[in-house]
Amino acid sequence: MSTTVEHTSVEAGPFIGGRFVESSGQERQDSVSPATGQVVGSFALGLPADVDRAVAAARDAFESWSSLTVFDRCRYLERLIEEIRNRREELARLLALEQGKPYRLEALPEIDETIANIRVAVELAKYLEGTVPQLADPRKRAFVYRVPRGVVAAIQPWNFPLGTASAQIAPALATGNTVVALPAPSTTLIEYEWARCFEAAGFPPGVFNLVTGSGPVVGDAMTAHPDVQVVAFTGSVATGRHIAARASGKAQLIELGGNGPVVVLDDADLDAVVPDALQSTYGAAGQSCTASGRFLVHDAVYDEFAHRLTEAVQREIKLGLPFDDATTMGPLNNAPLAEKLDRHLGTALDAGATLLTGGGRAKGFPTDLYWEPTVLTGVTESMAVAVEETFGPIAPLQRIASGSEALELMHKSPYGLCAAVYTKDIARGLTFAEKAPSGLVNVNSRPGDTETHLPFGGRAGKLSGIGKILGRYPMEDVFTELKLISLKLG
Ligand code: NAD
Repeated sequence: MSTTVEHTSVEAGPFIGGRFVESSGQERQDSVSPATGQVVGSFALGLPADVDRAVAAARDAFESWSSLTVFDRCRYLERLIEEIRNRREELARLLALEQGKPYRLEALPEIDETIANIRVAVELAKYLEGTVPQLADPRKRAFVYRVPRGVVAAIQPWNFPLGTASAQIAPALATGNTVVALPAPSTTLIEYEWARCFEAAGFPPGVFNLVTGSGPVVGDAMTAHPDVQVVAFTGSVATGRHIAARASGKAQLIELGGNGPVVVLDDADLDAVVPDALQSTYGAAGQSCTASGRFLVHDAVYDEFAHRLTEAVQREIKLGLPFDDATTMGPLNNAPLAEKLDRHLGTALDAGATLLTGGGRAKGFPTDLYWEPTVLTGVTESMAVAVEETFGPIAPLQRIASGSEALELMHKSPYGLCAAVYTKDIARGLTFAEKAPSGLVNVNSRPGDTETHLPFGGRAGKLSGIGKILGRYPMEDVFTELKLISLKLG
């Protein structure tokens, strides 16, 4: 099998104050494609001194950027959209090579999602308003302004690098904040190329900055920096908890993991559940916070569902190279994740679960990160594959006796990001959804089925995050704050 894809090597480093600059650190890290094993380029391992420079540039740019009208700021974001559109195929190609996702099916759509996220921010930022409240004192007037907070530290995961970056950064910029971004190490090159679009769009120096490097070094320096007012983070629970503690006192938008329970009730239309299950379990090779991480299936339809899902997986999911048009699922992004999947599968099999199809690393590919689409039956609550975030292409099927049992299991789960329930009885579905402890619950569609203007985020009290991203919500709740100015007449 041919293992290389033609590409130009990308040598990434910081983008600070409107220029691509040298990092203060001398060390670099290679970026290796999970799909082909080839070195795609390298990036500078930034140091806290780089963060200081980037935050200073963002702080210096804040006053003039926040003084522009929202209409003027949005003109820059419109130009950014144009630059991304002009480089759509090129960006998608690098995204597929560096991240591993199929080019046509997932990388191009992520570029389009990036544009859509910016477009939503451009549209909605213009409608934010302050108020002129009534007062008890007739000699006074008061004005409640909605003002940007300042410098935003924006930290992204590797699964949807540009999708998540745009969801954090576009609303932050549209509302008048300035940004310092940190990409995940394994998707640094694509964010570096994205920074070129900011440069080409002519943003004023310091409005958008990027520092490359490792989370514990660059990220720690960003989240505790005294001149950073907001931390926007999308990533794992462990890192999110660390960051939330470190950034205490700052405004926070923290988007973490989930395990997307799909509840299939006894009257579910399996013709609808199976295609959705294929998309939400094996799309992004399961590496999505909205993936279906577990299936809670009523005893009455369990065997039929298991049979139909297995057949559909064998027939329709084609594991392969990202640039092969027949591919519907690419490799995993990184080795630690593949090892976690091996562990989740191995411990489940040891504890009595049975494989219906798939079952671990696929052979005959350029790297050992190709993991077979898998269906696992006889899963119980004692297994990590059922209760943790697996983040891979495994459908663990667990038998339930009733909808209330499913609700009980969901309440016990530490996660509460998104969920789905399938039933032909709409009233029953709605009642279930109202009781389910998740930030998003879909009746008769997959857990992650939503749109870019709607609120997205975990339920309070669970470990899936704090605050809502997408739509007008982060602009109102995180990237702006209310400021009261009152004056005495005469
Ligand atoms: P991760 O937590 O390992 O890394 C995320 C980012 O945090 C990276 O950029 C990393 O460099 C940085 N980081 C690491 N240590 C840091 C530190 N000490 N300080 C500051 N930053 C630090 O997560 P990941 O593996 O890249 O992403 C996968 C996770 O993201 C999954 O759990 C997934 O569910 C979650 N996710 C959530 C959403 C959502 O919207 N809720 C969306 C996508 C992904």
